[in-house]
Amino acid sequence: MARTTTALCRLCRREGEKLFLKGTKCTSDKCAFLKREYAPGQHGQQRRRKSSDYAVQLREKQKTKRVYGVLEKQFKNYFKKAEKSKGATGEVLLQLLERRLDNVVFRACFSASRNAARQMVGHRFVKVNGRKVNIPSFLVSKGDEITIAGDGKQLKEIKNTAKVVEDRGTPEWMEVATDALAVKILRMPEKKDIGMVIEENLIVELYSK
Ligand code: SF4
Repeated sequence: MARTTTALCRLCRREGEKLFLKGTKCTSDKCAFLKREYAPGQHGQQRRRKSSDYAVQLREKQKTKRVYGVLEKQFKNYFKKAEKSKGATGEVLLQLLERRLDNVVFRACFSASRNAARQMVGHRFVKVNGRKVNIPSFLVSKGDEITIAGDGKQLKEIKNTAKVVEDRGTPEWMEVATDALAVKILRMPEKKDIGMVIEENLIVELYSK
């Protein structure tokens, strides 16, 4: 399964903002970004020069890739798919990323991080419309029902996690039944639903060069 292997906290420091990649640690005072708000490496503490347009666009793309945990090739494929669609390319790109099954598990608060959600999918804990799906990039559609499978102990652990992270809240495009560990997709996600600031127009500009 493709995934980024760089130390996750370094990615936040590189992007200059918290990307919330490590679950509950991210909202605690153990967050590495709170301790060192500068880029990693030998020159990380030097004052940054004014960034070029290209550098700003590149950083937005890198940040988005890192948040969703996808690699370059896959990200570019999402972009190509978005470009061919009828909607605004940047918004469709965000929609495709949000529709990923691992993201749905994360946004439903069944896992502390998208990484943990990806593992749950990979380990066949997740069912879509009653069938186990172990592909984290599987795209959910309107009307899909996502449930969690597992033995009693595993389900209890997932429910405990859901309680710990419930303050995160769940997005309006899905209906979440935490007690049943079930999600129904009510509609396709929109830009306003993604729960973080991503300037998708910068990514479109980058790939349009
Ligand atoms: Fe980023 Fe989370 Fe690490 Fe903080 S704890 S630096 S938010 S991954």
